[in-house]
Amino acid sequence: MTSIPTTVRTVRDLRGQVAGWREARETIGLVPTMGALHEGHLSLFALAKSKADHAVVSIFVNPIQFGPREDFGRYPRDEQGDLVKLGEAGVDVVFAPDTVEMYPQGFSTQVKVSDLTEDLCGAARPNHFDGVATVVTKLLLQCAPDFAVFGEKDYQQLLVIKRLVRDLNIPVEIVGAPILREKDGLALSSRNAYLSPSERKVAPLLYQTISEVAADLAQGRGCDDAVVAARFKLDAAGFRVNYVAVRDPYTLKPLSGPVTRARVLAAAFLGKTRLIDNVAVPKAATTSR
Ligand code: AMP
Repeated sequence: MTSIPTTVRTVRDLRGQVAGWREARETIGLVPTMGALHEGHLSLFALAKSKADHAVVSIFVNPIQFGPREDFGRYPRDEQGDLVKLGEAGVDVVFAPDTVEMYPQGFSTQVKVSDLTEDLCGAARPNHFDGVATVVTKLLLQCAPDFAVFGEKDYQQLLVIKRLVRDLNIPVEIVGAPILREKDGLALSSRNAYLSPSERKVAPLLYQTISEVAADLAQGRGCDDAVVAARFKLDAAGFRVNYVAVRDPYTLKPLSGPVTRARVLAAAFLGKTRLIDNVAVPKAATTSR
């Protein structure tokens, strides 16, 4: 029988847990999550465990990264189910603070990465990345891991976090992890639970479409052409497209004409569910730099 990992709810207890490991010069990998864990999260835990002596996972649905009309209230929460999965994954410690522990009365500090956050998801979700940057900075300082793992699923977020760690000299390595997908290509996401059966059938088209853009670009087709065709296809299938974009993989600056190295990123609503996905050009490229 697998056991439930040690669960701590305060920064003090988290620091108490990691202090012994530090003294013994053992390494720590942190994986921040918002819970409702799926196989994509589990792949991040496996990566953290393969690289470190101890894996710490945080579960915190961060209110300040949600807009007033977004899904904070109905975001899926299943702490008991999550703890069982974390035990099976061999995670040592789970940090699951409440909102007051993270944002006590009078909390008034914000971390803002101004470059990288203005468009794509930043344009559609004002203040979202300020909320992400603030909570991730706190988690990194609270846990002081050797490295932290973030999924390429949230590609813009991964770059924002790499930048803030660099800019603020936080002594932690940020490790990007590949996107885990369903058999039909749909990127795993806690929000996929919102999809109706008919929406779920259409959803893989997002990945198919951006993969086609990536293939077209690899064949020398111009960015603008490929993006127009992709938007058209997604619109026709019933998506409400937020953006389909071809960007520099490190700076997220717009690209035009034929390209050799890029990231194709997209966000689109299916009904009330906002889906995001991205692929590399060429396909095997990674974020590491
Ligand atoms: P979340 O709980 O949605 O905030 O995600 C926690 C971490 O898991 C983030 O670093 C995400 O990028 C990552 N993640 C989410 N979905 C996937 C996936 N399908 N494959 C790999 N990583 C993922």
